Amino acid sequence: MKNLIKKIVLTVGGNLGSISNGIHILNSHYIGKNDLPKEIFHDLLFKLSKQADFICIEDAVNTIKEKTHQNQKLIAFTFDDGFEECYTKIAPVLSDFNTNAAFFINPGFIDGNENYYQNFTKNIVHINKPPMTWEMIQELHQKGFVIGNHTMDHVRLVGLKNDELDYQIIAAKKRIEEKISTDCNFFAWTYGRNSDIDQTALKYCLANHQFVFGGDNYTHYYSFKNDRVINRRHVEGNWPISHIKYFLSKKKVYS
Ligand SMILES: [Zn+2]
Repeated sequence: MKNLIKKIVLTVGGNLGSISNGIHILNSHYIGKNDLPKEIFHDLLFKLSKQADFICIEDAVNTIKEKTHQNQKLIAFTFDDGFEECYTKIAPVLSDFNTNAAFFINPGFIDGNENYYQNFTKNIVHINKPPMTWEMIQELHQKGFVIGNHTMDHVRLVGLKNDELDYQIIAAKKRIEEKISTDCNFFAWTYGRNSDIDQTALKYCLANHQFVFGGDNYTHYYSFKNDRVINRRHVEGNWPISHIKYFLSKKKVYS
C-alpha cells in the first residue's frame, strides 16, 4: 500500500513537474536489475531529450565551477561499479544521443578470480552482473567516455588506516592509469552518502583526483571544496520518466 501511494505521488508529481534549470548529474549502475534490452534506456533518453539537453560529464563539472548553468536544463550521466552492460548497452545508447558518461570502476572486480567474483556480486554489490573487461574499458576511453576510480574493492571509506587508503584509492587509480594510459582524475566514493566517507579518506581522494562524487540528498544538489566534491542524483535506466522528472524538478543548489 505504501509503495502504491509512493508510486502515485511520483507519477502525478512527475507529470505535473518539469525538470528544473541547472545541471543534473545522474548516478546509475545499470539499465535494470535484470538483463534488460538497451531499447528501454534508449526510450528513456529519448523522452528526457525532449525536456533537457545532455552534456558531457567534463563539461558538466566545468560548468558547475564557472556557474554558467542557471538558465538551461542540462543532464550528465555517471555509472558506478563498471558492469559489462555499460559497454554492451549503455555506452552505445549514450553515443546515439551524442553524449558520454563517467564510468566508475573497481579494478579488483575486473582482475579478480572466480572466488572474488562470487563474493563481490553476492556480498558487496548484491547483483549478479559481470564486470567490463579492460579491453572494453580501453575502447570506451578511446571513444571519449571518462573512466573514473571507485576504489579497488568497493570498500566503504570510513575508519580505514593509511595503508588501506593507499591501496583502495591510490593503487586503484594507478591500475586504471596503467590500463588507459591517461590520468584518472575522477573519483566516486562507494555507497555515496556523506556518512559513507570520513574526512581522512576525502582528503586522500581530493589529493589524488580533480573531482570527487557522492550521491546523498536528492532534494538538493550541492558541491563543496571549491566545486570539487559534487553530489549526484540516483536513478536507474529503467525508471519511468515520470519518476525521474519528479526528482529532477527538485531545486539544485551548487555552492
Ligand atoms: Zn558502487
